[in-house]
Amino acid sequence: MSAVPVDTIVPAGEPWMGIVRSGQRLRIVDLEGNQAVDTLFYNAEDGDEHYSASNTIRAQGNIYLTLGTLLLSNRNRPLLRIVEDTCGRHDTLGGACSAESNTVRYALDKRHMHSCRDSFLLALARTDAGLSKRDLPGNINFFMNVPVTPEGGLTFADGISAAGRHVELVALMDVRVLISNCPQLNNPCNAYNPTPVRVLVRDV
Ligand SMILES: [Zn+2]
Repeated sequence: MSAVPVDTIVPAGEPWMGIVRSGQRLRIVDLEGNQAVDTLFYNAEDGDEHYSASNTIRAQGNIYLTLGTLLLSNRNRPLLRIVEDTCGRHDTLGGACSAESNTVRYALDKRHMHSCRDSFLLALARTDAGLSKRDLPGNINFFMNVPVTPEGGLTFADGISAAGRHVELVALMDVRVLISNCPQLNNPCNAYNPTPVRVLVRDV
């Protein structure tokens, strides 16, 4: 069974949800550079199985996602593998921005601002996938640069991506993809300027 191939532009601040069948490729293109693409993966048949940052980090012994990284589920099963990466490094520690984190990180008057958590919830509400806010584990931030200091601190740094860079993953089971193309206006990771990305799903 094959999902309909996808080639779409996701504007900054918008979510996207789709199915990638086992063996298909998912490509995300950072069209203008230094955009953060907050992403979650689920077993398409069972939303209780989802991406696990801690299992993925433990298995590869490294905190950054890059070429070759196997994305594991909370049941320690392979969801996808990164098979192309012209950016070089992606974050899975920083989490998704939310109204609450906007307030804590930036200022009280940022609370009303659009956030990835709201985009995730909007996308879940639009589908009959049976997923809710209880189903939002720690996510991946493709193209986002969150270096860890020798003391273990997280730093939200200037992006290392650039216009046209992409990451491509092969699905190792049928997966549901949930993307929030980050609308964040307060963060140097995207140069305070959220921009669109291109999402492609194709057979190989
Ligand atoms: Zn965000």
